[in-house]
Amino acid sequence: AADMLDEKTPQAAALGYVADTTKADGKKYPKHAADQGCHNCALFQGKATDAAGACPLFAGKQVAGKGWCSAWAKKA
Ligand code: SF4
Repeated sequence: AADMLDEKTPQAAALGYVADTTKADGKKYPKHAADQGCHNCALFQGKATDAAGACPLFAGKQVAGKGWCSAWAKKA
């Protein structure tokens, strides 16, 4: 499996990615809500129950199911 995305990389930081959605910067991202996570994001390539999965925004890495970034979009 691909390596986990490091939230300190420039690409991750640019989108405010955190491996734990509860650690998202709510001041910088006021639309963030604790119930948002990669697991229920439209871009997440894994199943909702997966601990990690691919995200097209971070090619070659895996994002945490409990993670979050500012590109989060509600899964239809
Ligand atoms: Fe997670 Fe969605 Fe951001 Fe990808 S776009 S890192 S799946 S919140």
